[in-house]
Amino acid sequence: MLSEQAYWNPITETLPQEKLQTLQLKKFKRIVVLAYEHSPFYNRLYKEAGFEPGDIKTYEDVRKIPKIEKGMMREVQQHEPFPYGDMLAVPLEQVTVFRQTSGTTGTPVYQADTWQDWDWWAECWCYILYSQGYRDTDRVFLPFGYNIFVAFWAGHYAAEKLGAEVVPGGVLDTQARILKMQELKCTSFLATPTYVLGMADTARNRLGIDPAKDLTINRITCAGEPGASIPTTKKRMEEAWGAKVYDHIGATEIGAWSYECTEQPGGLHVNEAFFLVEIEDVETGEIITEPGKNGKMVITALDRHAKPCIRFDSKDVIRWADYQCSCGRTFRIIDGGIVGRADDITKVKGVLLAPTAIEEVVRSIPELGDEYEVIVSKKGDIDDIFLKIEIRPEREKEKENILSRLKDQLRLKTNLGYRIEVHPWGSLPRYEVKAKRFKDLREKKG
Ligand SMILES: [Zn+2]
Repeated sequence: MLSEQAYWNPITETLPQEKLQTLQLKKFKRIVVLAYEHSPFYNRLYKEAGFEPGDIKTYEDVRKIPKIEKGMMREVQQHEPFPYGDMLAVPLEQVTVFRQTSGTTGTPVYQADTWQDWDWWAECWCYILYSQGYRDTDRVFLPFGYNIFVAFWAGHYAAEKLGAEVVPGGVLDTQARILKMQELKCTSFLATPTYVLGMADTARNRLGIDPAKDLTINRITCAGEPGASIPTTKKRMEEAWGAKVYDHIGATEIGAWSYECTEQPGGLHVNEAFFLVEIEDVETGEIITEPGKNGKMVITALDRHAKPCIRFDSKDVIRWADYQCSCGRTFRIIDGGIVGRADDITKVKGVLLAPTAIEEVVRSIPELGDEYEVIVSKKGDIDDIFLKIEIRPEREKEKENILSRLKDQLRLKTNLGYRIEVHPWGSLPRYEVKAKRFKDLREKKG
């Protein structure tokens, strides 16, 4: 009997870095030529910059190519031809699927994919699921609303492609989803961290089911929010479900570009067979190649054709890890996942604040509930930062002690003092997909 293979793609996932770069450069040239010749948007962009595809000769030349950003994608779709503007690099009749971004950062961007692109999406997700231990023996539950958002659609097809049995939980409500998982003895599911915690809460409080003891879930894959790479949030999820929790990062405009393997080295592999990731210094614009230094991600999807994503400035803040993973994959690792958003990091009372730092503190205090909200506003000329939390009912009596620990930790980790308000258990909003916990009310007032 053959021993089980360790990687979804044993060739690409173990290519030496040098060969990976050769492969990336070859694919990069190919996608740039496609865009230049067939997408009027890219043709205009490159001509205006005085650039021709033939100018790319070395790996370092990649950084000379003009970047694109989300605002440009929004702008182009305001114009004919409907609905994608002139950005497509294939004829519209080759487009087989429509998706759009969630619009959390503005007007939604429309996304077009061909059948081949969609197959590629599923292949990217196969790398993710296989590296996280999913096999043909798994029964995978998909508890999300199948609709216009990419969400876990590609995860669904990938789980089928690698031979697992897929249970689509679409329009079922949360309780019905939990009961179905129990009835079918599902082994794993895919969800946002917010919903992973929310489902556990519903199971315990509404159904009297302890997910860690009464259900057979042993593996959960997260997406959509940074939670699974925040150690304290990951721990909460793992304890609630008695399961291993793995992170993956993807985006509608880009694809599913990174994943945490079962070795969990403290970061996520970049799928360098399908994506070329660069990190740009926010201040100087220089490309950062050394480990440990934060910068903005600029990413290219090397094999996505309908609406090419070439040197997309994602605003995600990442850094290369200074360690290699013991799993044997040669794909580089981004340390700690996405560590912030260039446009989320904001100055409060003159101090730089990343909202994920608040999450890390709140989730590190076991007496606090999973939900919280942060509101930044202005009182006169002074910034005011206000944190709403819930305390577990059985720990109410220790309120003073809990609050003083919370304040100390917040001061230590974020250098800020907060007004804290305790809300009745279960009264803060619950979310099914992405949570909106950080509200900055100062911007609207200009
Ligand atoms: Zn690994």
